[in-house]
Amino acid sequence: MPGFEIFGAEEKAQVMDVLESGVLFRYEFADQRKGMWKVLEFERAFAAYTGAGHAQAVTSGTAALKVALAALGVGEGDEVITQGFTFVATWEAILDCGAVPVFTEVDLTLNMDPADLEKKITPKTKAIVPVHMMGAQARIEAIKAVADRHNIPVLEDTAQAAGGRLNGRHLGTFGAVGTFSFDAVKTMTTGEGGMCITNDQTLWRRMSEYHDHGHDHIPNPGGRGGESRSFIGFNYRMMEIQGAIGLAQLAKLDQIVAAQKKNKAFFREAVSVLPEVQFREILDEAGDSATFLTFFLPDAQRATAVNQALREAGAGAVRWSENGWHYYPKWEQLLGGKTYCQGGWPFSVGGKRRVVYDPQALPASAAIIERALTYQVPILLPEEQKTKMVAALKKAAAI
Ligand SMILES: *Cc1c(COP(=O)(O)O)cnc(C)c1O
Repeated sequence: MPGFEIFGAEEKAQVMDVLESGVLFRYEFADQRKGMWKVLEFERAFAAYTGAGHAQAVTSGTAALKVALAALGVGEGDEVITQGFTFVATWEAILDCGAVPVFTEVDLTLNMDPADLEKKITPKTKAIVPVHMMGAQARIEAIKAVADRHNIPVLEDTAQAAGGRLNGRHLGTFGAVGTFSFDAVKTMTTGEGGMCITNDQTLWRRMSEYHDHGHDHIPNPGGRGGESRSFIGFNYRMMEIQGAIGLAQLAKLDQIVAAQKKNKAFFREAVSVLPEVQFREILDEAGDSATFLTFFLPDAQRATAVNQALREAGAGAVRWSENGWHYYPKWEQLLGGKTYCQGGWPFSVGGKRRVVYDPQALPASAAIIERALTYQVPILLPEEQKTKMVAALKKAAAI
């Protein structure tokens, strides 16, 4: 997954362009920047790459979610539905808007179960946020159909799936908005950074304004200081250096995905020696960005034993059910309603708890995730690592 593996001369040259111009800010300084607008150029290149009408760069994937939710008008009194297997950022952004996150089960795609989504919709549901976890597709067409039936917008959290597609169409372009992360460990990285894409010009305008203190960005004789605003915003602006690195990384994205596909095929072959192993359901193999390989053992006990053997042989897998950042029953800060706010916000309003989460609320997800093991697929895969993996898996297969 991580684009940092192939950081090189291209990123360096891009950063030097910016340092030589001396302009770090994405707006203004027209005379000094010698025609260079890196963030703007990155937005245009990202929109063109994904096939979206508009792109708005921001400071992180979490900021992208926040900006997109704000543009959709999500706030207090609303519910936003997402899945119980995602990174905490997805629901942090929902809470930060003042809304209540509601969680669905995942199915064998390890993404949102559309049937459970249908059950969780209430008159308060303001947005639906499926996540394309670990580089591969949620059942976005089925999810979109449910959402459309209820007239609720879909925001695709595509933080982990840059370069991922479904039937040739880039992920993040199915819903009203798609959001991306370019943090340090994502498929393409700018260190910190994010992007929102949309085909809806009104939504894009709102995101553009919200992310920059409400600036309407309409040219006027007073310059930036003379711009007006029609609502309150915040600051989630990307820097020129990030935009420059993003351009270099985006140019490598297809090459990254191609390398990962090759390595994932090797991993899959090696893992196939495990008795009774099954693989994560991938809706469209050709559109998988191939950042991770997930496989299932018959039960949790077997997954524990196999991973123990793999660890001992130096090739331990990720067990998401043991990870505190991605799996609902492990989110103790959410389940416990932990906050430093005296009034209990965002879990309580007016001293009254507005939401309580049951750790046992997602049994179908637990039954799947607790028997899953995952390997992160690298871009660069040295021969020694291959040999070690094959040997470790053969050993684990024999237990
Ligand atoms: C990484 C990630 C985010 C947040 O992105 P940051 O750039 O780290 O803020 C949001 N959602 C998912 C699913 C992620 O993996």
